[in-house]
Amino acid sequence: MPHSVIMKKLNVLIIADKQDMESLDINKQSDRWNVYWEILHYDEIYNKIESLKKTIVFRKIHFVVFSRNDQVGKLTSIGPVISALKVGYTTISGIDQQKRVEQMCQCFLDFMEGDTVLPFDDETQKKSPLPYKPKGTFSLVFDTEQLGGVRYGIPRIFKVLNIYGIKATFFITNLMQWIYPGIVDKIVSKGHEIGIHGRYHEYLSTSDERKQCQIIEETLDDFKGYSVFGANFIGRMDEATLASLTQNGIKYFVYPLIHDYATLGFRKYSTLNTVISVNRHNLIMVPISVETYGLPWIMIRGMLESVLKELKKNEYKHLTILLHPFRDGNISHIGVLEKIIKFLYNNDLISLPIADKISAHNAQHNADCATDINVARAKRKLFQFPMSLTDIKYAPVGIGIKMIQRVRPNTTVF
Ligand SMILES: [Zn+2]
Repeated sequence: MPHSVIMKKLNVLIIADKQDMESLDINKQSDRWNVYWEILHYDEIYNKIESLKKTIVFRKIHFVVFSRNDQVGKLTSIGPVISALKVGYTTISGIDQQKRVEQMCQCFLDFMEGDTVLPFDDETQKKSPLPYKPKGTFSLVFDTEQLGGVRYGIPRIFKVLNIYGIKATFFITNLMQWIYPGIVDKIVSKGHEIGIHGRYHEYLSTSDERKQCQIIEETLDDFKGYSVFGANFIGRMDEATLASLTQNGIKYFVYPLIHDYATLGFRKYSTLNTVISVNRHNLIMVPISVETYGLPWIMIRGMLESVLKELKKNEYKHLTILLHPFRDGNISHIGVLEKIIKFLYNNDLISLPIADKISAHNAQHNADCATDINVARAKRKLFQFPMSLTDIKYAPVGIGIKMIQRVRPNTTVF
């Protein structure tokens, strides 16, 4: 636990489903958090937003803790709840439907007690051969902010990454390191990259620039001794964030590309990195081409194929894929991760962490701005998303919801 957290207990609101209370001990005390409870039926959670908002203000809640996520129980999507509340979050949710209660109970104990050193049994010697003549590169990004994702998802993900010798990028909240000390060491020791994702997945956009700067500084404090170049605050950042990131030495941040745009006649965004200049510092915007969202393989393959088609037009052949340990590391999806990797290998792409891609690129061109990166004025680009949501209303429901989640400013895309 960092000093700042020991000195001041943070206030947390556990939002638990009524049924889950048969397994969770409401009287359990914690030395680490001031715990408040909100017990409801997850089916009705969207009707409770206003009262949750009031509780969050009244109790000065730092972050909320869900007992379930969208992978288990009745698959209630908590994303819209978080974006309505604009508050930090984690979950103690199980990640495998069959074992969700047992896993939830374990994560609850981990959360209340903290300082759990996880045993990692993920070593494997088997390595698959890399493409003989790579024609491009890809980066796998794992957003890591839920306890179950760390405890149950990451060991499975490590196994798959080991087999293929993949070095990925993990954006991880400080909270995960507070609960599971050693997790960052473990990730880094395997050659993966660490990036920031907020102390507890909080919204930066609700703070002014000075405060944001301070939050990012505090976030980075826990990662002293590690090389941290990147940030992922998709849906939780605004223009002030750009300056706050550069002032703290961050070199890049990721943002989602939305391929659905083309289908719906919206402009299609470049698959290239974009350099923006903030207070005379360069900041690189790295587009995420594919987000798995626990979708079936056939849909993910479709997305990958469309990105590859797009990439063929460019000299710069790189794509970034966003995944989540609680989704892509669960029993029903872990096989898809392997299919993604095999697909990319079969297309002669090799993997590397985002930071390596950027530095390799910079080194190659011996400059901050490479020739195939759009320089200048790109700052506007980021904010060219349609601000009026009326355009989106007419989209087919599934796509519309997905788009709103991805484009609306200040909306959480985990
Ligand atoms: Zn996230």
